[in-house]
Amino acid sequence: ATELKDRKGFKGHDMLAPFTPGWQTTDLHPLVIAKSEGCYVYDSNGKKYLDALAGLWCTALGGNEPRLVAAATAQLNTLPFYHSFWNRTTKPSLDLAKELLEIFTARKMGKVFFTNSGSEANDSQVKLVWYYNNALGRPNKKKFIARSKSYHGSTLISASLSGQFSYSLPALHQKFDLPAPFVLHTDCPHYWRFHLPGETEEDFSTRLATNLENLILKEGPDTIAAFIAEPVMGAGGVILPPATYFDKVQVILKKYDILFIADEVICAFGRLGTMFGCDKYNIKPDLVSIAKALSSAYMPIGAVLASPEISEVIYSQSNQLGTFSHGFTYSGHPVSCAVALEALKIYKERNIVEQVQSICPRFQDGIKAFSGSPIIGEIRGIGLILGTEFTDNKSPNDLFPPEWGVGAYFGAQCEKHGMLVRVAGDNIMMSPPFIISPEEVDQLISIYGAALKATEERVKE
Ligand code: PLP
Repeated sequence: ATELKDRKGFKGHDMLAPFTPGWQTTDLHPLVIAKSEGCYVYDSNGKKYLDALAGLWCTALGGNEPRLVAAATAQLNTLPFYHSFWNRTTKPSLDLAKELLEIFTARKMGKVFFTNSGSEANDSQVKLVWYYNNALGRPNKKKFIARSKSYHGSTLISASLSGQFSYSLPALHQKFDLPAPFVLHTDCPHYWRFHLPGETEEDFSTRLATNLENLILKEGPDTIAAFIAEPVMGAGGVILPPATYFDKVQVILKKYDILFIADEVICAFGRLGTMFGCDKYNIKPDLVSIAKALSSAYMPIGAVLASPEISEVIYSQSNQLGTFSHGFTYSGHPVSCAVALEALKIYKERNIVEQVQSICPRFQDGIKAFSGSPIIGEIRGIGLILGTEFTDNKSPNDLFPPEWGVGAYFGAQCEKHGMLVRVAGDNIMMSPPFIISPEEVDQLISIYGAALKATEERVKE
């Protein structure tokens, strides 16, 4: 049994994936994905997989939406590129900015800045906030508070904002001299794992808000510029905010004049069953980061939405700071913007939010029916995002030894049965495309069940 639990004989690409994010290698025999169709992808041998993570939480419209291809092609044929510097721009970029300001209704926003990714959006947030505070004559208000187990990207600053995950994941900070000294981390709001005995969700939220306030007071409110949060934490293991959490946090932030940055990179455009995560949790952010489903991932694009107050300062001629000198060659790339515009049009025409609302109970209830499994600690999710955490004895504290590779084994079983999920230690994450059909949800549940049964047996051995 020990031998088996030493991962001997464990086959599957998920075993290797966590250690090689983003790298191209041949010696590790990567799973080569060659084609996509709706909610499915095919590998280079023609094997078909249900893409239960929608790529990396992003191909909201699935793998072969012809209208997105047509939008890209038409733009490539007309104007494949022009930049957005010095008050020059392109029509798709202008139209997309206008559309984004219209659909973000959690509060009124002022201006849009385009990036190529979620990481760049979050990096840009930091520069924006610093510029803003410098313009307001408060140059010491520079620090950022993020949360443990958050994920905000992998550039130097966005990786700094990200919180450490857990024992079993490669460290985001160690060996990189991160986080940067201006980044602080506060509690991860994971009720199941971190609540005290007898503590209700509301009490837990109160305690976390108090901890946040204490951190602000300890550092000095005049030194804290902004707080950044994903409405639902994705890569940290799909962690939902406990009841009243964001209400209480927002009160504290207001009290000390600290900006709220909503990292909507995963949540935006319907993932939670609302257009934005901010709508779900009544968040009134000052700044918003988006990417991923913005173009359904057919082209790389991200964006920052800034409140009218912040936009005004950036554009003010009288702030003595000169230009907000920050932009990328591909900011507002016309092909990416044309594709994103078409994706937003499709979301609207097909009532994608209602579609997610109508399919998600089948998905959530179907998977949560496995909650009784002796190797599952918690299943948590909302809309079309869901996390499973394997622990022993149903306890958040009884982790399986990392060398057993329980999560990796489950992931490999899913792969064997024709489904791709995200494995991170003993956390399994799923976020299927918004277009998933009832039959495909049933297939997803059935493969999950088969993989779970095999994993339960393996753990027992
Ligand atoms: N923010 C969140 C919440 C994310 O999940 C991610 C990526 O998964 C990012 C930011 C970084 O986005 P990108 O990988 O496009 O740089």
